[in-house]
Amino acid sequence: MALLTILTWPDPRLKTVAAPVRQFDARLATLAADMAQTMYAAPGIGLAATQVNVHERLVVIDTSEQKNDLRILVNPEIIWKSEAKFIYEEGCLSVPEIYDEVERAAQIKVRAQDLKGEFYTFDAEGLLAVCVQHELDHLLGKVFVEYLSPLKQSRIKTKLKKKIARGDLQTVR
Ligand code: ZN
Repeated sequence: MALLTILTWPDPRLKTVAAPVRQFDARLATLAADMAQTMYAAPGIGLAATQVNVHERLVVIDTSEQKNDLRILVNPEIIWKSEAKFIYEEGCLSVPEIYDEVERAAQIKVRAQDLKGEFYTFDAEGLLAVCVQHELDHLLGKVFVEYLSPLKQSRIKTKLKKKIARGDLQTVR
């Protein structure tokens, strides 16, 4: 297994729209394992392939306290969203140390494939629902801060640039 480099917003590669996964092979399993390791090491509760510069529809999530509930979502789709909304203060491994409120559907139903290509569905609410919606946005080239006002976005860019100048962050490309 290997730790992968996470792209930092506003890296233009984060805007790439991911392509569907078609080969359910050893390469995919290794990528998912590396992404899980990278997510746990960060630490974070979700990571999309887009964030490690692989533009395929693959996401890993673990919102459990014990970090023992890894979910691997290949070609995930949200097939139902509640009218009810939920506001949560989100963060992102691609936007280090920045947190802000985003409104999303409170409940969702998700269909995805596993590493063998088998379809499965699950219902999510609360933090898990937020996390799935956040990660699926990444696959469409969208980062949570892009829901915020242009003023907030420019402040965040300035903050991240300062962190880089101080050497607090390794990379921004
Ligand atoms: Zn994110």
